[in-house]
Amino acid sequence: MFVQELVLRQRTEILNALCSSGSAEHLEQVLDILLSQGELTWEDYQNIQVSGRALHCNARKLLDLVYIKGEDTCGLFFAAFKRVLPDAKGVGTSSSGCSSTLEEKEEHQSTCTETLLTQRPSLVEKLRGCIDGALEDLVTSGHFTSADCCEVQLPIHTPCQQARRLLDHVRSKGESAAKVVLQFIQHKQEPVSPLSQEKLTPPKEVLKYQKKLSSSISAQSCFLSTYGGTSHMSLDDIYTDGQLELAHNCVDVNGPLGLEDIVGAVGTVNKEADTVLVSGEAGGGKSTLLQRLHLLWARGAALQDFLLLFPFSCRRLNSEQRELSLQELLFQHCCWPDRQQEEIFQFILDHPHLILFTFDGLDELKQSFSDEHRLCCPTQRAPVHILLFNLIQGSLMKGVRKVVTSRPEAVGPLFKKHLCKEVLLKGFSPSGIDCFVRKHHSDAHVAAKVLESLRTNTALLGLCHSPVLCWIVSQCHKELLGCGEGSLQTITDVYLMILQHFFQHQSSLKNTTGLCWLQQHLQTVLHLGKLAFDGIGATCYIFSGTDLETCGVTEKDICMGFLMQSKDISTHAEGYEFLHLTMQCFFAALYIVLSDNTDRSTIPKLFETQKIKEAGQSSRCFIACLPSTDQPQRPSGGETTAAETPNRQITATFVSGLLSQRHRNLWLHCCPSAVMEKRVRQVVKCLSKGMQKHFKSIPQPVEGEKKSMHAMPGFVWLIKCIYEMQEDRVAKDAMSKLEVDHLKLTYCNIGPVECTALAYVLQHLRNPVGLQLDNNSVGDVGVEQLLPCMHICNSLYLRNNNITDEGIRKLLAKTIQCEHFKKIALFNNNLTDACTQHFSRLLKIKQNFVSLRLGNNNLTEKGAKQLAEGLKCNHSLEYLGLWGNKIGDAGAEALATALENSKTLLGRQWSGECRSMCPLQHHQELYVTGRPVVDREPHNQIRSGKSDSSDATQHPCEISVVEKQ
Ligand code: ADP
Repeated sequence: MFVQELVLRQRTEILNALCSSGSAEHLEQVLDILLSQGELTWEDYQNIQVSGRALHCNARKLLDLVYIKGEDTCGLFFAAFKRVLPDAKGVGTSSSGCSSTLEEKEEHQSTCTETLLTQRPSLVEKLRGCIDGALEDLVTSGHFTSADCCEVQLPIHTPCQQARRLLDHVRSKGESAAKVVLQFIQHKQEPVSPLSQEKLTPPKEVLKYQKKLSSSISAQSCFLSTYGGTSHMSLDDIYTDGQLELAHNCVDVNGPLGLEDIVGAVGTVNKEADTVLVSGEAGGGKSTLLQRLHLLWARGAALQDFLLLFPFSCRRLNSEQRELSLQELLFQHCCWPDRQQEEIFQFILDHPHLILFTFDGLDELKQSFSDEHRLCCPTQRAPVHILLFNLIQGSLMKGVRKVVTSRPEAVGPLFKKHLCKEVLLKGFSPSGIDCFVRKHHSDAHVAAKVLESLRTNTALLGLCHSPVLCWIVSQCHKELLGCGEGSLQTITDVYLMILQHFFQHQSSLKNTTGLCWLQQHLQTVLHLGKLAFDGIGATCYIFSGTDLETCGVTEKDICMGFLMQSKDISTHAEGYEFLHLTMQCFFAALYIVLSDNTDRSTIPKLFETQKIKEAGQSSRCFIACLPSTDQPQRPSGGETTAAETPNRQITATFVSGLLSQRHRNLWLHCCPSAVMEKRVRQVVKCLSKGMQKHFKSIPQPVEGEKKSMHAMPGFVWLIKCIYEMQEDRVAKDAMSKLEVDHLKLTYCNIGPVECTALAYVLQHLRNPVGLQLDNNSVGDVGVEQLLPCMHICNSLYLRNNNITDEGIRKLLAKTIQCEHFKKIALFNNNLTDACTQHFSRLLKIKQNFVSLRLGNNNLTEKGAKQLAEGLKCNHSLEYLGLWGNKIGDAGAEALATALENSKTLLGRQWSGECRSMCPLQHHQELYVTGRPVVDREPHNQIRSGKSDSSDATQHPCEISVVEKQ
């Protein structure tokens, strides 16, 4: 096959390989090689590498260009691609001639400026660790100003990107500047490393310690823990990138973050702080992500700016009863130096910027964050949580970088005050799910079947965005493939599947009793259930032999595989923990549903809506669920546990699911039906009451305005519980009392899983509502999940939600048939010209549609022209928002012409690259400001049909329609 055709055929695979990590590095390396080969001109490069544009768009531009350039360029592109990503699957050609062409071309060079181009890939490598030195030489020689230096060293750039920006600047400064850089590189003797930058050679003992530390970390992190028990899965084989985003909007960051960006300067909001928070739901992959970072560091493949990395698990720290000094904490909990402990500790104190601490699962710590007890002395002993809190604040060891993971609900403003940034881990993307399943099943045939069955069950596919659920689904593929289409819908279904899977696969017992699988293993469920239930009440995740004994857990129960072994650090005794925290919550829920030992008030207390409180105020909600005799010892001082509410909520969600009508047959012979019925009634009552409480909090609307409800914390959780029950009457009852015109769920962590639940519940609303889901992680899969409630939506706000053309295609195919649907806002998503045909169709067909906002997407002239086609036939649209796109002169003109006779439009904004003014209605004019889009004042209005747009191409300008004075 011709390579040019391959570029087309393998487009998806190539784009995935170049962009799926979220980092621009692979693409930029390919560009470096193509530039050095002379396959791309400087102008080509600038057209592709548009800063601020989404990574995928830049990559698409490159593919378009190499395709246009023909067979030879495509061949070289594949050679460059293979050099950058040698292991990429499903991409490339079998022809090997391409790579030799790469080598030959690199030989030729004459002027220094040319050398900068032809040697670009190796120069980037050489410069990346010594940008400061090169800039210094350029400033001293008078070629660079301090403004040039600032541009190069923008903190959002990685070291490699800084090197490239430096080369780009030097190129514009001419031959003598290029010479200075080449000379600088020639004189540079030392290999690149931050250690060498500061001319530091750590003492031999420190280097020895580093070796010991890294080999211990490598050993600890090379296998994934959920595979414990019978089998191990190597992290390398299974690790799949999750979606990382900054919690705060950051104008300079486009698209997802890479792993190393977590620790890097990207998105810093508080320069004084050294702590980064990685937040994500339980099972979202936080621990695995840290494990990956640890492994990469230990192998020397990432984070090499740090000489020493100290990993801590808050779960393990819980069992440390002693007061420790910082030195004891580091050496006893991470790695013991064989000799010269004092010297090594002194080195750590003296070089905080070379040290990285990670704290996994802050939400699992028994004590909530507090900054009351200040500690600055590194030799003073203190309880470990006090040491930890002081490290996070920076009172102890200021300058050490810290990465902390936690569930979002478990950290309050007091803690956030000490963060330099917060990164959100949002589970797997659709391609991540695909990738994970393929990695999980070495048999490609099985992987394809699992994926196929996921695609036919979108509710399940939605759940798989959570890595832990993706793991369960993959693990239980036989059950999955065996069950009828669509039968697995809720999180409870998925956990019941794994329960059955473990019992049937890990038990040697043959079922000759005629009992159903649950009946057969009821005692195991109750023993483990009690352990889990008591543990959650006491914020205990690691259990001693005595704990197991107290709950009646036997050797046989342990063998089922739900528990894995772990070491109790302080006593060095063997301990046990559940495979995952969510598994512990599931067993706690089973206990609540099946046991006859729980209190009558257990369920009502479980469903109480409580706010998380910070230190000092005890919530003690879960503990109160326990019969008083079972209440475990709480830490003194009445401290609260940040984990209490989230754990209680997860458990309550499972309780709702387990008490669903669909599962009652399972309990039939395990629990008296009268007891079961009573528990069901209790849950239904709690859900109804919980919703009432939310509805009562809705303020009366100001006269003339719509009645709007902003979701309070806990609302989404209640919705999820109702979904788990899968009983229409419960959903109907809950929604019948909601009387609002507008439901606002912005910044509520809404992903595909939540969308499924929302759609299920909202479809029971009596009157149409506006649904505002801005700033969540809905994505295309979430959009698909929302379809069942579109008939009851009159407007849908999905700003900033990672939606692409595919999601829009499905959404519009549905909403075009929905009578009430009149407004949509999609500002800041990933839309391109491929979606405008669908909008055009919507505009033509729906003559009651009033508002279309598509600002800040990737629409161009082509898309604008397609929209114009629809606009010509539409007689209802009042608002059109298109700013922040690149619709260009011709696009703007097409729109203006289409709108010429519009009698309904009230105000429009879009950005283009043109200077034109088109007459509209007699009372309206179209203005082009000639100013960057950020500056929206209509100064500088230029009246002309068309003109040269040389500076306008540099600064996309805003066009707006205004009423004539
Ligand atoms: P959290 O710490 O957020 O609760 P974990 O990291 O423990 O979540 O993830 C739960 C399980 O999900 C892991 O044990 C693993 O099986 C799977 N998992 C999570 N993240 C990944 C990943 N990036 N790649 C592969 N599997 C993952």
